[in-house]
Amino acid sequence: KLYNQVQDLKGNIRVYCRVRPFLNGQPNLVTTVDSIEEGNIVITIPSKYGKESRRLFSFNKVFGPAATQAAVFQDTQALIRSVLDGFNVCIFAYGQTGSGKTFTMTGPNELTEESLGVNYRALSDLFVLANQRKDTISYDISVQMLEIYNEQVRDLLVTDGLNKRYPSSYGFTCICLTVHVQGRNLTSGGILRGSMHLVDLAGSERVDKSEVTGDRLKEAQHINKSLAALGDVIASLAQKSTHVPYRNSKLTQLLQDSLGGQAKTLMFVHISPEPDALGETLSTLKFAERVA
Ligand code: ADP
Ligand code: MG
Repeated sequence: KLYNQVQDLKGNIRVYCRVRPFLNGQPNLVTTVDSIEEGNIVITIPSKYGKESRRLFSFNKVFGPAATQAAVFQDTQALIRSVLDGFNVCIFAYGQTGSGKTFTMTGPNELTEESLGVNYRALSDLFVLANQRKDTISYDISVQMLEIYNEQVRDLLVTDGLNKRYPSSYGFTCICLTVHVQGRNLTSGGILRGSMHLVDLAGSERVDKSEVTGDRLKEAQHINKSLAALGDVIASLAQKSTHVPYRNSKLTQLLQDSLGGQAKTLMFVHISPEPDALGETLSTLKFAERVA
């Protein structure tokens, strides 16, 4: 209820930032993250880029390196409930390759109960909640998993079956898990439909055009185009503009019915704390600031 009140005030788009920890073996004495407080993150821009400075970015929430998977998921639970009430929900993971998108959505390679990502928790909650309502509403839940690569859509469950691990470490693809929910009220016979899209986006890093050619350049251009199109759509929804440019990419076309209107959108933007990533970190945060 509180969530819906907040939503009414802020529109249907929320942006959370997550900073991943330093990984094993990485030197961790120097970090680009100066501080995290509530929804604010301050980034240090070192003197080698001119005068040392700090830049503040504000989001609905910022999760630091120590945030657990359960804590990151906690605020998402209200969204899951609304899917069963007939809303369309999109949850995106954005960030450069290696920043933790797949960790947030799926988890690490070796999954434990604690490390399960948003996808598993969301699906599990959906079934638990549907079951709690079984005396009043009968739910049908179906799952679809798509990959978008070079603006081509492939159905991963139909083509590959469930036993093939999808190429989550592969930075060029966007993986979209969609859950369709149909509920029938056992007394009135009324039908409600909701959906949830869980999207592990392709890596947002800029590719130096002088360094790549051929297929890699084509991949990079498709990715840049579709992430830019997604940013444009969310930014124009956030500004409540009358024209929303859904047609500019496969991803936004695919999600057209689930972005805007009554639909709810949550974007997790991911950043890496190491100084080498500073350029990408700043461009990720600027992208996120634009849609927040
Ligand atoms: P991306 O999908 O953005 O390319 P990954 O999710 O694969 O990035 O993360 C890169 C590496 O960092 C993986 O080894 C992953 O397990 C690890 N990692 C990412 N986020 C976290 C986190 N919050 N806590 C611990 N390890 C993490
Ligand atoms: Mg990944």
